[in-house]
Amino acid sequence: RATTLGRAPTSEEDPLTTTSTRPAPAADASPLATAHHQLATAVAHLGYDDGLHQMLATPRREMHVAVPLRRDDGSSALFHGFRVQHNVSRGPGKGGLRYHPSVDIDEVRALAMWMSWKCAIVDLPFGGAKGGIGIDPREHSTAELERVTRRYTSELMPVIGPETDIMAPDMGTDAGTMAWIMDTYSVNRGYTIPAVVTGKPLTVGGSLGRGTATSAGIVHVTAAALKEDDVPLDSVSVAIQGFGKVGGHAAAIFAERGAKVVAVSDQYGGVRADDGLDVARLFTHVERTGSVVGFDGADPVSNEELLGLDVDVLVPAAVEGVLTATTAHHVRARWVVEGANGPTTTAADEILAAKGVTVVPDVLANAGGVVVSYFEWVQANQAYWWTEPEIAEKLAWRMASAYASVSALARRDELSLREAALIIGVQRTAEAHQIRGLYP
Ligand code: GLU
Repeated sequence: RATTLGRAPTSEEDPLTTTSTRPAPAADASPLATAHHQLATAVAHLGYDDGLHQMLATPRREMHVAVPLRRDDGSSALFHGFRVQHNVSRGPGKGGLRYHPSVDIDEVRALAMWMSWKCAIVDLPFGGAKGGIGIDPREHSTAELERVTRRYTSELMPVIGPETDIMAPDMGTDAGTMAWIMDTYSVNRGYTIPAVVTGKPLTVGGSLGRGTATSAGIVHVTAAALKEDDVPLDSVSVAIQGFGKVGGHAAAIFAERGAKVVAVSDQYGGVRADDGLDVARLFTHVERTGSVVGFDGADPVSNEELLGLDVDVLVPAAVEGVLTATTAHHVRARWVVEGANGPTTTAADEILAAKGVTVVPDVLANAGGVVVSYFEWVQANQAYWWTEPEIAEKLAWRMASAYASVSALARRDELSLREAALIIGVQRTAEAHQIRGLYP
């Protein structure tokens, strides 16, 4: 069944028979439409034929599993779980596991595709994958989340493994979730296999520096982007949307390195202080109350207002699709550094470019997490663990060299950083695919 060129495949269509890979996304398209549009742009630049384009647009393998849960009160509930292995030409599938009510197959497909490009941009020997369950973790006890995680893992046993597909935390999951996956997988195999997941607790083979890696990477690439304009990191003001695993640590590291963090937010709202927030004290407030809201000595700001603050650097580090055809017009920052995956729609990208805003794209900006995931996997495979300074140094080097190659291509071919990053990611993936050849 052929579909009309000019739109993205939807979840109703069989991705393996869908020929549409050149969507022209409407304003503020879905993550999958955005991902397909980005791929089409890179493919056009690289001059690939339609067959190769379709191969790159189509996930290698998808699993959709039912995840039944016995609730604490004795009733039962059913959730939908997914795992998409987008590409495995450069190595095993790699990517996070997301628990969020909005998770569906198309979102996971987009996130898996972005993982392929991301791993290739930072030159890891991994392909791209992503998983998710359509569940709101806030509505479940720890015991329920453990049962959901173990059942999901058990359903995925045939397709995951340290040599095939390695999960890690993403929105709604954490190191504890990874420990349950590692345990379930290991118990079923009959021995301990720490390399099946990354982002684990240290006591069961996690890596030093993994918890703060995404945020550290964001700060490294921000510094590199500023340096191109001779702007020192300790002279800029920063607003961060999201105060979770990514945004929270990013705020701390920005402050540590002398930048002025003037606003942060979480799902409940945000706070701003034009002279800079005391990030250490803010952490204590969040520990006590569960939110940044109500932090004394700061004024309230909404999530949307935060995007339009008069700051130098804006870091969207929460959910996707926040910079849209509407909100992008309000951005006053000179640099947008994408901590989240897919926070900027294609329509917003064009608006930001027209305003002269430099966007450091997600696949480069937030790659620090998967870089240290790779270090964790290497350490687990060799059963020898590195020190924190060793990890920090290797991470800094990889982020700096990835930024340098993206920026060099952007300058050479007069591209945006996003276009250049995607071209590098797509090209490295396609080259691995081509050099391996087709079987049979
Ligand atoms: N979920 C993170 C991401 O989107 C980390 C993935 C990983 O470490 O495998 O990059």
